[in-house]
Amino acid sequence: MNEFELIDRHFRREARDASVRVGVGDDAAVLAPSAGAELVLAVDMMVEGRHFLPGADPEALGHKVLAVNLSDLAAMGARPRWALLALALPDDDDAWLAAFSRGLHALAGEHGVELVGGDTTRGPRNLCVTIAGEVPEGQAIRRGGANAGDDLWVSGTLGDAMLGLAALEGRVTLDAQSLADCVARLARPAPRVALGSALRGVASAMLDVSDGLTGDLGHLCAASRVGADIDLAAIPRCGALDRMLRGEARAAALAALVAGGDDYELLFAAPVANRERVAAAGRAGGVAVTRIGRIVVGSGIAVRDECGVPIDPLPRAFDHFATA
Ligand SMILES: [Mg+2]
Repeated sequence: MNEFELIDRHFRREARDASVRVGVGDDAAVLAPSAGAELVLAVDMMVEGRHFLPGADPEALGHKVLAVNLSDLAAMGARPRWALLALALPDDDDAWLAAFSRGLHALAGEHGVELVGGDTTRGPRNLCVTIAGEVPEGQAIRRGGANAGDDLWVSGTLGDAMLGLAALEGRVTLDAQSLADCVARLARPAPRVALGSALRGVASAMLDVSDGLTGDLGHLCAASRVGADIDLAAIPRCGALDRMLRGEARAAALAALVAGGDDYELLFAAPVANRERVAAAGRAGGVAVTRIGRIVVGSGIAVRDECGVPIDPLPRAFDHFATA
């Protein structure tokens, strides 16, 4: 199968959205943005051996490579609309491509995103999505808007994906249900797109947690020129992680919770006066939102244990495929 047949077979779909004037199949896509909207663009790449293991489920990879991009747009409060796909593949394995495109198209359909073009080439497996979306003029939520006194919030639960990876690598043992849940969080993250949009005009600063809570919070604090104070007990976690935190595996649980990667939850600051509006955004977004601390004057991040004492040193940021 040549490149054109491959694209035709797995990636060309009839555009359902009238904004797509020209989609897959021409030299470039032609799109009609909404009046009064600003374009929001992001790109994220997943490399075999770095972000996923050889032999990873192609349908889950199709989901995840789009999900991580959707998460970046969610973090800006943007509505995702169009995507471009660049693939380097070692071979033209038709079953692999069929499963990969199934995962990609399913999530795209869920979020009304149109795949409008791309490129394929032979090479070490490398998956790259460029996403484009829209936000009403001037309303993108940036990292730099947090103020001392703001509440600090996070969506969903943290640490599940790292716990799933640790279990797959045999470093921790989980019960069957927790294992399935945590591995699903790792393989098929749910981008918080509806929550992100609902937080426009509510959150003062936001980003998505892709590299671990304290690492990503450090970016938000640096951009906002503030510090942060977090209560460990308030950080939302799954039952398995909570049990580990209270037992012998506390160090590993702590690392997963504050430094675990691949969560793709939204971390945001909001004025205290907006607590009701944040709760309403959580309901609109269909995901729990939890207040985990506050933004403070200065710089640096303190995570306080159950006794109110800052944990020192904090676990290092999660490194993909780091071994215990
Ligand atoms: Mg991000």
